[in-house]
Amino acid sequence: MQDIFRHVDDQLNECIAGLTELCKLPSVSAQNSAIDETAEHVSALLRGLGFEARVLPKPGGYPVVYAEQPGRSSRTLLFYDHYDVQPPEPLELWSSPPFQPTLRDGKLYGRGVSDNKGNIAARLAALRAWKEVRGELPCAVKFCIEGDEEIGSPHMEEFVEQHRELLAADACVWEGGGVTWEGIPQLTLGVKGLLYVELESNTVNRDAHSSYGTVLPNAAWRLAWALASIKGSDERVLIEGFYDTVRPATPEERAAVEAMPSEEAETLKSYG
Ligand SMILES: [Zn+2]
Repeated sequence: MQDIFRHVDDQLNECIAGLTELCKLPSVSAQNSAIDETAEHVSALLRGLGFEARVLPKPGGYPVVYAEQPGRSSRTLLFYDHYDVQPPEPLELWSSPPFQPTLRDGKLYGRGVSDNKGNIAARLAALRAWKEVRGELPCAVKFCIEGDEEIGSPHMEEFVEQHRELLAADACVWEGGGVTWEGIPQLTLGVKGLLYVELESNTVNRDAHSSYGTVLPNAAWRLAWALASIKGSDERVLIEGFYDTVRPATPEERAAVEAMPSEEAETLKSYG
């Protein structure tokens, strides 16, 4: 592998330049900005690496970039990524413009540099190195890069259902991935889910004068009580049946977690 790692090191500046170009595109899905041009840009990058790439429509959502390339083995690895980013506001908190990626102290700052364009650039750099050093990919590789992950991937489930064959793979690598505080690359083998709810409270039919605070029911308090009913101060979820189907960790899983390097000190320091 040293020859491939060396190739990656040699190409680092080019890779950062490519990431910079990708991050100049303001593909903010929440603002319907630069979606099509970013999808095309990503497809072109994949084509440049020998992938057969196309932009597939996703009804009710933004287009998905799909790409595939055969490799030495018959196994297939699927990479999931997204080319959209979060809105850059509030702009006054940026030290440099969000869509003009800037190098400072050996780090690149710009919207999407980390989530998720950096992962796309890193994966492309790894594949390029492998191909240029070994001639062909070790296995077949597919990419599925969506354009509205940051607004909750509307209709992605239907898209996956409709493209089961296309997305079929032996393994899938999700978008994230990074290094520990000490710079050791991390591989995550599972992720938690997300429950997104919106609570609404309507107590009276119009604005009321504050002098009625003791008489009329207050929507803000009702919401506060509703929130407090979800989780206790001991962090336990209070919703009935919430833990019913949770499988306890096996001794092996506990041992694996305990073997991980502790990042407590760095995390505490980072978050103040
Ligand atoms: Zn992401």
